[in-house]
Amino acid sequence: MSPDPTPHASRTATSASTASDAPASAALLERARAVTPGGVNSPVRAFRAVGGTPRFMASGRGPYLTDVDGREYVDLVCSWGPMILGHAHPAVLDAVRSAAARGFSFGTPSENEVLLAEEIVARVDPVQQVRLVSSGTEATMSAIRLARGFTGRSLVVKFAGHYHGHVDSLLVSAGSGLATFALPDSAGVPAEMAAETLVLPYNDVDALEAVFAARGSEIACLVTEAAAGNMGVVPPDPGFTQALRRVTAEHGALLVSDEVMTGFRVSRAGWWGHEGLDLAPDLMTFGKVMGGGFPAAAFGGRADVMALLAPDGPVYQAGTLSGNPVATAAGLATLRACDDALYARLREVSSAIAAAASDALSAAGVPHRVQWAGSMFSVFFREGAVRTYDDARQQDAAAFGRFFHAMLDAGVYLPPSAFESWFVSGAHDDAAVERVLAALPGAAAAAADTGRG
Ligand SMILES: *Cc1c(COP(=O)(O)O)cnc(C)c1O
Repeated sequence: MSPDPTPHASRTATSASTASDAPASAALLERARAVTPGGVNSPVRAFRAVGGTPRFMASGRGPYLTDVDGREYVDLVCSWGPMILGHAHPAVLDAVRSAAARGFSFGTPSENEVLLAEEIVARVDPVQQVRLVSSGTEATMSAIRLARGFTGRSLVVKFAGHYHGHVDSLLVSAGSGLATFALPDSAGVPAEMAAETLVLPYNDVDALEAVFAARGSEIACLVTEAAAGNMGVVPPDPGFTQALRRVTAEHGALLVSDEVMTGFRVSRAGWWGHEGLDLAPDLMTFGKVMGGGFPAAAFGGRADVMALLAPDGPVYQAGTLSGNPVATAAGLATLRACDDALYARLREVSSAIAAAASDALSAAGVPHRVQWAGSMFSVFFREGAVRTYDDARQQDAAAFGRFFHAMLDAGVYLPPSAFESWFVSGAHDDAAVERVLAALPGAAAAAADTGRG
C-alpha cells in the first residue's frame, strides 16, 4: 500500500533543485512543515515525485505565476485545470468583487446559484437537474450515494488509475486478479469499505463484461473519468464509452461520468459530446473550471434520479457553503467567457506546445508519447500507446524529474509529476508560448542526460 494517498506514488530524488534556488520558498516550507503535515495542503504540491523545493506562489496574472522569491513562471498547471481564462481574469475579478461587496455567504438560496445551474444544464444535455457542492470530491461522493439510493444496491465499479477525489470507497486499487475486490489505497480506509468497490483495468471491455456478468445485480453504478486525466491523459478507446453505457444499462446500474477535470475544459460542455450526442450518462460530476478558481462543484443528470435528493427525496446531501455567492459568481463569469473562440485558442496553444515538446524530446533521443483529450494533453516518458494505468506506470520518472527541473529553472511551471495533464489558458499569448518553446530544447537535453558524461 502506498503511504501517499494519491494515485501518483512514484518518487524520484533529483538533485536539480536545492533550497538555494528558492530561499523564500524554502523558508516558508520549513515553517509550513512545523504546522502542516508535509508543509502542504494537498500532497502532490510537495514535489515528492520530482524532488526539490516546492515553490510558494505569491501572485498570478494571465499565464504567469510569481513565486515568493520574485521569479516568474509560465503556468502550465492552471491550478490543475480551473484557471481556463488565466489568473485574475478581469471579467471574473469584477464579478468576484461585486459579489463579495454584497456579502460572502447567506445560507439561503440566491440568484447566482440559479444562473450557474441554468448555464450547466444549457451546456450539457444529459444534465436535467444539478446540485451545487464545494469540491469534486463532494460531487462524486454525493453522486455515488444517490446512485446507491436510486438502485438500492451497494457495489461501485471504477477503473484503475482513475481519480475521483479522496472519497473513501474510491481511494482503492485493484487487488490481485481480475474482478477481485479492491484494496484500500490509503491507510484509514476500512477493508469493508474498499470491498464495496470493484476495480477494473481501463479500456478493457472483456473485464467490464465479466464483472457485470458475475455481479451485475449488485452494482449500483460504474464511475469513470469521461476521459482519464489523472494518470496522464488516457482517452477512452473508440467504442469504450458506448460499451460502458450498454453494459450498465443492461444490468440496471447507473453510469456516472466524472467530468470534474474535463467538464467545460475540453469543449463548451466537456468530454460529453465527443463520442456522440446520444451517449448520455445517468449522472455527471463537475468541478474545477465551473468554479473559476473558487470552491464550486456540482453533480447532476437524469431528473428522475436527482428527484431522490433531499428535500424532495430520501437521499440526504447538504453543505453550509454550497452555492456560495462569491464562488458561483466566479464560476458563472468564467463559463460565460468560455466561448468557441476560447476553445479554439486552447487547442492552438496546446498543439504548439505539445508539438515543440515532442520535437525537442525526439531531438534529444528521449522516448516519449503525447496523448490528448481535447486541449488537455500529457507527455508520457515512455514509448507506445498508454491505454491503462499499468501502461502509464511504465515511465522513466527520473528523466521526467530532470526535464521538470530544467523547465522550472527556465521559468516554466509544469505539473510536478509525470502522471498529470498539462493545462493552458486563454491568457497564454504568443509571448508566453514563446517562453515555453525556448525552454524545451534545454530541458529535453537535461532529460536525456543521465549524468554519465
Ligand atoms: C480533481 C478531480 C476530482 C476531485 O476534485 P476536488 O475538487 O479536488 O475534490 C474528482 N474527479 C476528477 C476527475 C478530478 O480530476
